[in-house]
Amino acid sequence: VAKAEGRSGFVTFSPAILNQFDMQLGEEAGIKRALNCDEFFLVWQPQFELATGRMTGAEALVRWRDPAAAAIRLPVSFIPTAERSDLILEIDKVVLSKACLQAARWMPVSADDFVCSVNLSGKSLQNDAYFAHLLLVLQQTGLPPSRLQLEITEGVFIQNSRNALNALAEIRNIGVGLALDDFGSGYSSFGYLADFNLDQLKIDRSFLSGLESSKKKQNIVRGIIALANSLGLTVVAEGVENETQLDFLIAERCHSAQGFFMSQPIEENLLTKHLIARQGRMKDADKFRLSLS
Ligand code: C2E
Ligand code: MG
Ligand code: MG
Ligand code: MG
Repeated sequence: VAKAEGRSGFVTFSPAILNQFDMQLGEEAGIKRALNCDEFFLVWQPQFELATGRMTGAEALVRWRDPAAAAIRLPVSFIPTAERSDLILEIDKVVLSKACLQAARWMPVSADDFVCSVNLSGKSLQNDAYFAHLLLVLQQTGLPPSRLQLEITEGVFIQNSRNALNALAEIRNIGVGLALDDFGSGYSSFGYLADFNLDQLKIDRSFLSGLESSKKKQNIVRGIIALANSLGLTVVAEGVENETQLDFLIAERCHSAQGFFMSQPIEENLLTKHLIARQGRMKDADKFRLSLS
């Protein structure tokens, strides 16, 4: 990264690297302020059980109401910066608190098997404070652990750290579910599927995109569904954008699905309304789509 300068023995940094460094610091300051001023909030993307059309869960996705930005900021614009520093630990804790609080509020209007999913980074997984926070939040909110699922990505296995693997076991021991997010998009082997207990595989969005016109993608999705079934895991397809994709997943007996076709990520109040409206009565035609009319 540093460029040696001839025979002088001095090392200089290029202006481009300095700028990048400044930018990281500026972004970090912004995230710190956002944490202090409570500018992060959650939107929720519903998940549907394909055999029945029931809404059986929702995934919490973090958003940033940044006063310095014209629009609401998506994770892609700040999670990478947060992951390069330790700020991701703070963000993941705030997200977990907010998600569990909301999940507990939804208990009276949802079925017992309605599960809220929360993403966390590999850094948080390996951080004792995150686990302590998890126990505390479950206790404070009274949320049954079975109503919560944590989503991790294959990256935590690649690092192959004992910390991460112990943390996964601890999470599952207290009855919180574990999903492997973005399955199939990484570089890791299947070995960890034999060694670690998970509850769910989430088929990466890249296999859904263009599924209609790709026999190969169709076969891969079939393969992942079969793999999950044989391991006793549930399987969720993410990124379902049209009816053809949904029909394929239903025909292949995929367990559940989420995506823009069924619903965009929505604000908490709206999901509450849908939970109330859908209780026990769904018309066949639109059982997979959210509509309050
Ligand atoms: P993810 O966990 O795989 O979340 C799914 C992403 O796909 C979300 O983007 C969602 O809005 C988007 N999506 C859902 N359905 C569709 C669809 O049909 N088509 C397309 N094209 N996209 C769809 P989002 O909210 O921007 O989140 C991106 C990533 O940021 C997440 O991927 C997750 O890895 C990360 N993330 C989100 N919230 C948190 C958090 O609280 N903590 C951490 N550590 N990471 C988070
Ligand atoms: Mg996720
Ligand atoms: Mg995902
Ligand atoms: Mg993804």
